[in-house]
Amino acid sequence: MSKGLLIVFSGPSGTGKGTVLSAYFAKHPEAQFSVSATTRKPRPGEQDGREYYFVSREKFMQMKQNNELLESAEYCGNCYGTPRAPIEKALKDGKDVFLDIEVQGGAQIRRLLPESVGVFILPPSIQVLGERLRGRETEAEEVVENRLTAARREIPKAAEYDYAVVNDTVEKAAENLAAIVTAEKHKTSRNQALIERVLNHD
Ligand code: 5GP
Repeated sequence: MSKGLLIVFSGPSGTGKGTVLSAYFAKHPEAQFSVSATTRKPRPGEQDGREYYFVSREKFMQMKQNNELLESAEYCGNCYGTPRAPIEKALKDGKDVFLDIEVQGGAQIRRLLPESVGVFILPPSIQVLGERLRGRETEAEEVVENRLTAARREIPKAAEYDYAVVNDTVEKAAENLAAIVTAEKHKTSRNQALIERVLNHD
């Protein structure tokens, strides 16, 4: 069985990473979403174990110390981290795993696992991003301003990723993500065994 792909999906908060991933998963139910641990409080509608594992700062630090996190970062005053064990299992089982993480975590994964695929999702413009964040209505204006400042800092990091996708419409962005996954699976560097098999069987 071939190993699955590890796809690091980053982009400013409010760009619609989660929505694009949901649209992708609806068509590719075999893919796996990596559920992160966070010290952030749940937003209305979020469920423990589905969007995130919502943990105390103490529990988070314990997970970090026990080496249970593949990467971790602090973002807008909260801690976020990727649990290691489910990822290792999914990749071994040949499943593609998607990480919705910010850019510091993305850089850690890239150093640790250079075979991972980095996809950066962009809003059509900063103005549209501001409108989307305000439209959420779960965030105070101060939080929105914080996140727009973070976005301006994050967007230049897109250059460190392999691919850039604009979230103009969710369907188109999810289609482009699927095209990237397909192309990555056909890279010669991931298909050495296949090439040798063809060569050695006439
Ligand atoms: P939010 O609080 O809006 O759900 O997420 C804030 C930011 O944290 C987003 O950019 C999201 O991608 C990122 N994030 C979520 N989980 C993780 C994680 O496990 N590690 C890192 N480094 N960032 C994460």
